[in-house]
Amino acid sequence: MEKIKCLRCGKCCWYPQEGEWNKKNSPWLPCRFLTVGINGVSTCTRYHKRLGSEMGPGAVCGRREDSIYNYPGCPFNTPDKEPHPFWSKLEKV
Ligand code: SF4
Ligand code: SF4
Repeated sequence: MEKIKCLRCGKCCWYPQEGEWNKKNSPWLPCRFLTVGINGVSTCTRYHKRLGSEMGPGAVCGRREDSIYNYPGCPFNTPDKEPHPFWSKLEKV
């Protein structure tokens, strides 16, 4: 079976500025370790030490499978999760 690969869109590397992960109107910001190349492919500058790193005030990096959300186009989406409150306003999840 073919292994599912991350598309490196970076959408799971944003956190709610006001710390309110479930609030639809909370502004979201990119993690301080996220960089996006001119080709649109994102990179984590702390990839091998990412888990537990502070993304920004009140937010810590965790495993993708532990996220409670689905993200637009993410191959790791599962039917039991809800669309991400920030990205689902901009793109179809
Ligand atoms: S949302 Fe999915 S495809 Fe995008 S960076 Fe995260 S795991 Fe990869
Ligand atoms: S530390 Fe985590 S949230 Fe931040 S860019 Fe790296 S993988 Fe994404």
